Amino acid sequence: MYWLSAAARILLLVACGAGLGWYFGFPILGAAIVLVAVLLFWSCQMWRLQQWLQEPGQPPADIHGTWGEIVARIYKHQRDAADNQQRLQSTVDYLLESFASMRDGVVIVERGGGIRWCNEEAARLLGLRFPEDTGQAITNLVRHPDFSEYVREGNYTEPLYIYFDGDLKLHLQIIITQFGDGDSLLFARDVTERVKLEQMRRDFVGNVSHELRTPLTVITGYLGTFLSDTRHLPENYVKPVKQMMQQAQRMESMLKDLLWLSRIESEEQHGKHESVDMMLLLEELRQELSNTHPDRKLVLDAQCRQSVTGDYRQLHSAVSNLVLNAIKYSAVDSPVTVSWRQQEGKCLLSVSDLGIGIEAMHIPRLTERFYRVDDSRNSATGGTGLGLAIVKHVAASHGAVLQIESTPGAGSCFSLVFPDTTGCNCCTQD
Ligand code: ADP
Repeated sequence: MYWLSAAARILLLVACGAGLGWYFGFPILGAAIVLVAVLLFWSCQMWRLQQWLQEPGQPPADIHGTWGEIVARIYKHQRDAADNQQRLQSTVDYLLESFASMRDGVVIVERGGGIRWCNEEAARLLGLRFPEDTGQAITNLVRHPDFSEYVREGNYTEPLYIYFDGDLKLHLQIIITQFGDGDSLLFARDVTERVKLEQMRRDFVGNVSHELRTPLTVITGYLGTFLSDTRHLPENYVKPVKQMMQQAQRMESMLKDLLWLSRIESEEQHGKHESVDMMLLLEELRQELSNTHPDRKLVLDAQCRQSVTGDYRQLHSAVSNLVLNAIKYSAVDSPVTVSWRQQEGKCLLSVSDLGIGIEAMHIPRLTERFYRVDDSRNSATGGTGLGLAIVKHVAASHGAVLQIESTPGAGSCFSLVFPDTTGCNCCTQD
């Protein structure tokens, strides 16, 4: 309320001036002289205030009275703002220091895509220079078509894996998170060792499976010869030889599935992108099953004519694995239904049966290799334990997910859900 006391003081001064003027016979002149004096005084104070404001950081000018109080308030605001800035700056410094010490590459990218800051690891992995590249668009400097596409699409729910075939030959995992007003934080991790190990594991499984095929073919060949005419076999050998044949055939199926799985895995990034007519695929599958399982009823329920972009053989093997499982794990007289439909903008391929079903606790682990709900079930059906692992990989390479719903004793429904917003893996209307 200092403006009120200032106004009161001016009024009092003007009144005194008017009173003195009245004493000499010129009241208005007296009041005018006081007003001019006040104006001059204020102008002088204003000039000093302006001088002080032009030199930020200086202690407040030696001004008293009303103007002194204004100056004190401004000075307090300035000091608070400086303290806040200092606090914010030290937080920013602290964060940048922790980012700088991270083993991953970190880049702060501004809303428009320009680089604001990066640590040394990011400079090494992505070939950036800091501070020279500040403000440059990151997509101009990190030259990789997949990266440009990833940034252009702006869907960062899944990390991006890219391979740089430059001097360093790096496999990188890129994770982008957005914050603030459209700025983003990019983390780049060198996963070259992990990818190499994974590749070695895949090659090993592929090679072992391949090498085992030849001796196994010889074994099954001889066993087949023995069994073709059991008259020459001692009677007590017939049953063991039949069992050996059964197990050898099972091993053959396992090797076939293992080889197929390692092939799908290696094609995951660079698979085919042909348009697969799902109706045609399902019709073909029905033909095949009518030959191999003439006693089983397969119901096709095609509600849409969408195609899927991908690999025909892979999709065929995934769907046939699901259908064969449905046949294996349900009674001979119960039907198996395969449906192809659209739901909430997604394309769903569902295989449902009215069979034995699966307990909920097993469902999250079903797609693990060789996972069995129980051993007797597996040996009775002659399964390899790899069918659903194949389905999961085929789904992943087509941008789809495998959903499993099941009720013990009532049946199961396995669905491949194809999103139609995943770029090349979308469903297309013919
Ligand atoms: P398998 O060759 O043993 O069938 P899969 O990977 O195809 O191997 O399936 C894994 C396990 O999931 C099976 O052993 C079986 O217990 C269970 N399973 C798969 N499909 C069904 C189904 N339709 N109904 C009941 N159980 C199923």
